[in-house]
Amino acid sequence: MKDREQPVPENTVLIIEDDVENIKVLRNILSSDYVVYAERVSKDAVSTAKKLLPDIILLDVMMPGMDGFEVIGQLKSELLTKDIPIIFVTGRTDTEDEVKGFSLGAVDYINKPFNAPVVKMRVAHQIKIINQMREIQNLSTTDTLTGIGNRLFFNTLIDQEWERAKRQQSHISFIIFDIDNFKNFNDTYGHLNGDKALVIVAKVISSALTRVTDKTARWGGEEFAIILPDTPISGAKQVAESIREAVENAKFELDDGRAASVTVSGGVQSVIPKHKGEYGLPEFFKEADEALYKAKRTGKNKVCIADE
Ligand code: GH3
Ligand code: MG
Ligand code: MG
Ligand code: MG
Repeated sequence: MKDREQPVPENTVLIIEDDVENIKVLRNILSSDYVVYAERVSKDAVSTAKKLLPDIILLDVMMPGMDGFEVIGQLKSELLTKDIPIIFVTGRTDTEDEVKGFSLGAVDYINKPFNAPVVKMRVAHQIKIINQMREIQNLSTTDTLTGIGNRLFFNTLIDQEWERAKRQQSHISFIIFDIDNFKNFNDTYGHLNGDKALVIVAKVISSALTRVTDKTARWGGEEFAIILPDTPISGAKQVAESIREAVENAKFELDDGRAASVTVSGGVQSVIPKHKGEYGLPEFFKEADEALYKAKRTGKNKVCIADE
């Protein structure tokens, strides 16, 4: 999630254009600023775009076989490519064409013959918009203290995973962790050391999750949520137990140099969501929460499973 600490990846441009000369000119103009790809065969354009997932597409209007209008229609109908900004590249200066392009979802037009500074600026303008949008998206779904996802990130993700599990009739598991006696930790060592403990717990959880589909987020103050798609209760229990143990063993340094650690309690629930009925995400969360409170009531630093 902490994109700003990673090197900014180079932006990519895909040119869809049948004319080799035009591709060459565009490459010359753009390749010092971006990674530039080209596709000459319009009927392959959508599959190439799906493979490369470029940041922006320059799309020729007049091409043999499928023309640019058909290509944009297909790009806009595919989940993977529908949000990629498309700039039309055309030799025709007909306003009707331009209106048609915009109505199909193009963000801009570039005219042939190419004027290098204009091409550069029009592309740079769209790339800037897309980079800013991504940054905002990242910030709005990242917890600033720990760098992992926040509740908003998690809510969006769990909605998708719940629907997918329902569709595929697969297991979905949810773990909720809560730091034990954390009020006391803050009162004893101070709020800054408390913050440090939260960062450590977030790190331990993140590094314990090995599958790319497993995701964690800061659920609330000192609570962390984990979603494990395609994982039955036995697997979720193992993951939860190994995290509980890793947190207990993670010693960290307080601001005065002393060593400290915290423990967590966890609640686990796992279901195959039913197509019909009253049982939904709120019930699922509630059961995991009840399991968490059982872990708290029965001694803390332990993991409990719903209905066990
Ligand atoms: P239990 O074992 O039952 O969970 O007890 P607890 O003390 O952890 O639970 P309680 O809900 O009473 O207190 C939660 C504490 O978490 C209180 C609050 O100061 C602390 N906390 C929540 N968010 C933050 C944060 O962002 N930073 C710090 N340092 N502390 C936080
Ligand atoms: Mg052409
Ligand atoms: Mg709590
Ligand atoms: Mg607590």
